[in-house]
Amino acid sequence: MTTADAKPTADPRIIEVHNPADGRSVGTVPIETADDVAAKVRELRLYQPEWEAIGPRGRAEWLLKLQDWIFDNADHIVDVVQSETSKPRVDASIEPPFVADLIGYYAKNAAAFLADEHPSPHNPLGMVKKLTTVYRPHQVVGVITPWNFPFAMPGLDVIPALIAGAAVLLKPSEVTPLGGAELVRGWKAIGAPPVLELATGLGETGAAVVDNVDYVQFTGSTRTGKAIAKACAERLLPYSLELGGKDPALVLADADLDRAAYGIAWGGLFNSGQVCISVERVYVEAPVYDEFVAKLTKHVGELRQGQDGREYRHDVGALANANQRDIVARHIEEAVAAGARVTVGGKPGATGTFFEPTVLVDVDHSMSCIREETFGPTLPIMKVADEAEAIRMANDSVYGLSATVWTTDKERGDRVARQLEAGAVNINDSGANLFSFALPMGGWKESGVGARWGGAAGVRKYCRVQAITTPRMPTQQKELIWFPYS
Ligand code: NAD
Repeated sequence: MTTADAKPTADPRIIEVHNPADGRSVGTVPIETADDVAAKVRELRLYQPEWEAIGPRGRAEWLLKLQDWIFDNADHIVDVVQSETSKPRVDASIEPPFVADLIGYYAKNAAAFLADEHPSPHNPLGMVKKLTTVYRPHQVVGVITPWNFPFAMPGLDVIPALIAGAAVLLKPSEVTPLGGAELVRGWKAIGAPPVLELATGLGETGAAVVDNVDYVQFTGSTRTGKAIAKACAERLLPYSLELGGKDPALVLADADLDRAAYGIAWGGLFNSGQVCISVERVYVEAPVYDEFVAKLTKHVGELRQGQDGREYRHDVGALANANQRDIVARHIEEAVAAGARVTVGGKPGATGTFFEPTVLVDVDHSMSCIREETFGPTLPIMKVADEAEAIRMANDSVYGLSATVWTTDKERGDRVARQLEAGAVNINDSGANLFSFALPMGGWKESGVGARWGGAAGVRKYCRVQAITTPRMPTQQKELIWFPYS
């Protein structure tokens, strides 16, 4: 249960965090034991009832203070995120405002999402009741996150869990723990109630979180997600899993090919392709295949790769660790050995964990670059005869996270979207669902279970639903169904 690039030091209780582009050490965090985790959860449990009692509006006030802290500390947070990921400045710069905007959305809407509901009664035997549905939080939520967005990923789950009224134990990735640590630092810096804590460490620390909390929100690989689901089953613990993806892009013959080439290049290569909803495979209708491949190849060939600290000069950075770079290289090598062709890129960079942005053509569904999640800067493209074949190929995957459809015909876009096996579909856009907080988004098939980000569902998932009944006529001595029977 260790991750290839997380480096325990000579002291087995410490993880040293590295900048993947140049290997320099950028910080350390402790490896917390099962006892440490249990103690933190006990502590969180003490403060949660008071947090729940102040209600969504009271909690929103604290979250808005955190929002101010994020804005005030944004440059520093971006530095931290860059130091542990080697992202270009723009990719890292998105993370603080993303979390701050999410806070704004839930601070405004959570009270309505969590308000009691009174469904119209439908009771047998003439019982007249007032019915109330109450959303009450799980006491302690464990949020376990991956390495690709070290600040945004923790924020995406911690914020709605807190506003729901839960206390939260955050276990960030051992590869990039510093961004999540910043979020918790901010919470403490504003003097908020002690209902958010950090537990750093390897997979064992994550497993200890699962062993102690009341609800698990996990974002990460499908393999780890399955292990967590098994552990949760042992405790009959509720959970939600946001897992891997292999998102298809469908370029239909009537698409605006320039927009599609720009959108797919960004959708597949943003954050070096290390995004759960990255475009990971592209299906192009035969009549426009050659033209689209030429446009995409040209655009990808012009991208500037590198990492220059605070400069905004680069489009694509390094990969987060050597393990990722090796997966990218293997997928390309296996595809080329089986007959695919590289039109641009295809090689590791000269230093660190860089890998050239790559377009692959003549791929098919027997290849690992189409079947397995690559999570890197590659765009494999396949020619399809028509719309029906594009849909069939897109759905031929164990994953079902998101998809994109490129067409100038709105009805066609909508029709195709509704036939795709994916939890989110963007028409003529990439990654747009990620920035649409009002939409509940979550993966289907092996991309997720019970997971929802955004909207009412994104906050209610942290709640236990309670049903309360009250007689409408309390003066009535007894209900018809009570003893004695007559
Ligand atoms: P990972 O599964 O290796 O690790 C994720 C987290 O789980 C880490 O914090 C790790 O320490 C912890 N962990 C490992 N073993 C554990 C165990 N047995 N019990 C509890 N916790 C454990 O994932 P990763 O490599 O960090 O992230 C990349 C993956 O995340 C990709 O597959 C990507 O698609 C996925 N991801 C999905 C989404 C989504 O929304 N669906 C978003 C981002 C990333």
